[in-house]
Amino acid sequence: MKKLVLASNNAKKMKELNALLAPLGFEVIPQGQLGIPEAEEPHGTFVENALAKARHAARLSGLPALADDSGLCVKALGGAPGVISARYAGEPKSDARNNEKLLAELATQSDRQAHFVSCLVLCRSADDPQPIIAEGEWHGEIVDQYRGDGGFGYDPLFFVPEFGKTAAELDADTKNAVSHRGRAMQKLIERLPSL
Ligand code: IMP
Repeated sequence: MKKLVLASNNAKKMKELNALLAPLGFEVIPQGQLGIPEAEEPHGTFVENALAKARHAARLSGLPALADDSGLCVKALGGAPGVISARYAGEPKSDARNNEKLLAELATQSDRQAHFVSCLVLCRSADDPQPIIAEGEWHGEIVDQYRGDGGFGYDPLFFVPEFGKTAAELDADTKNAVSHRGRAMQKLIERLPSL
């Protein structure tokens, strides 16, 4: 079985990635289990941050590493919170405070269009000159009322018109089939035989 380090300490994100990878016969090892701390994410784009995280985990583990850098981009906010989605309301990270800030910023906005982005980067080694990169998007709208208790992050405010539900109201398998992370993973999987 091929070992793959997951370069994340976000338990709920890792659960989603694990559900997508386990059927492919990967032994998925969370970086925390190897004592690897979170990497810095100083960059302005998802792909740069995902690459930094994957390279960091590959370097410290000596194993192939997969990272996801993801976030919510809101049209009326010029793409914010974007790459700072996890820390939108500052440190320490808090989904509840991030969601409150999002609602406050959108209070006077009628355009509620938003999309999630997931950029997955898989480094076969720290010096991999050609990491596998895959990106997925998931489009919806930000609503004013919290709905549902599944998922994580902005899910209770992210309404998906095709289901008539927020992301937090979808069951885990449905979310994984259509989400930004699920779509990025489907693209990545097509290229995994080259691993
Ligand atoms: P990262 O761990 O730096 O990639 O930050 C990702 C952040 O984006 C999370 O902490 C959430 O705030 C947000 N996010 C990413 N994916 C999702 C999702 O599937 N649902 C809800 N929020 C998400």
